[in-house]
Amino acid sequence: MKYVDEYRDPASVGALLEAIAALTGKVVAERGRPLHIMEVCGGHTHAIFKYGIAKMLPAELELIHGPGCPVCVLPIGQVDDCVAIAETPGVIFTTFGDAMRVPGSKKSLLQAKAEGADIRMVYSPLDALALARANPEREVVFFGLGFETTMPATAFTILQAEAEGIRNFSLFCNHITIVPTMQALLESPDLNLDGFLGPGHVSMIIGTRAYEFISEKYHLPLVVAGFEPLDILHSLWLVVKQLAEGRAEIENQYGRIVSQDGNIAAQDAIGRVFELREFFEWRGLGSIDHSGVRMREAYAQFDAERKFALSSQRIAEPQSCQCGDVLKGLIKPRQCKVFGTACTPETPLGALMVSSEGACAAYYQYGDFESRDKALGVDVA
Ligand code: SF4
Repeated sequence: MKYVDEYRDPASVGALLEAIAALTGKVVAERGRPLHIMEVCGGHTHAIFKYGIAKMLPAELELIHGPGCPVCVLPIGQVDDCVAIAETPGVIFTTFGDAMRVPGSKKSLLQAKAEGADIRMVYSPLDALALARANPEREVVFFGLGFETTMPATAFTILQAEAEGIRNFSLFCNHITIVPTMQALLESPDLNLDGFLGPGHVSMIIGTRAYEFISEKYHLPLVVAGFEPLDILHSLWLVVKQLAEGRAEIENQYGRIVSQDGNIAAQDAIGRVFELREFFEWRGLGSIDHSGVRMREAYAQFDAERKFALSSQRIAEPQSCQCGDVLKGLIKPRQCKVFGTACTPETPLGALMVSSEGACAAYYQYGDFESRDKALGVDVA
């Protein structure tokens, strides 16, 4: 298939794997320890497991699955707020499908829908706006979540609603920002990283310049990567090559999509509609300064947080849940005590088991990692 096959060519995969193994061996011999590279984006996590990339890499090159799946980092209290809005009489609550099964403290959106709440899955915020146009007597709420990748579509929809004078449409804003989150991770004392695969889709909006602090302040390489097998392997080779050559730079493997400055029109729309929150609560990671956005005062009429009385409670995660440790790369999914028993994709206990981009769900769906975990010395007993 044109534009796909060339990114999955077996001969090129083999050549890159050999080159990665040779460079990894050299760096590991110099450092006397395995290498840890974090893929920030949940889309990369999914691709890495789907194509069996993790299993093909040298055992001393370990991939750490980062926090870049927005569904996975959704706190329980926010899910409870979604359910409360959705169960308000007269409301049509709209959301992307992958948020439907995230467990709240009492129920998920899917369970609320089964109990009679009018909750509808949409593919775009514009679908939600169309519902508002078609149902002027109902309040239509769109659950906005995701990093800078999905933020522009939400912002443009709010601008469209304003231009049309639509009054029965609002946004429950849970959009999050990537740079403060990576900064917080890098300040975490128990994190031990040698480099990053940078998120492809987010970078299309924010550009590669946004990551310069990682090389300048933390002296770590980051390569913005595409999502096909050759993209990921090529990017890993670029990271390990930098390590072998003693460099720490921001490189762009995904040049066919990502530019240095990003999408200026999208950034403008984001800036018009949203402003940074002082802090935002992340599932498994706690509160991170400036890691989320809220709606500006000028758009208060479209802000579900202002329209509905929300409890916004902080709810502790189940004691057995170790999502935070997985997100920080401290343990592998299989090391969580409830992995595959109390927590499965059918009955997820933690959010990492809900979305296909979650590390635990990917491990569960694609992983046969016994031999690899053994090689890494991971104790899953
Ligand atoms: S197995 Fe379930 S509870 Fe454990 S870390 Fe994964 S998602 Fe969280």
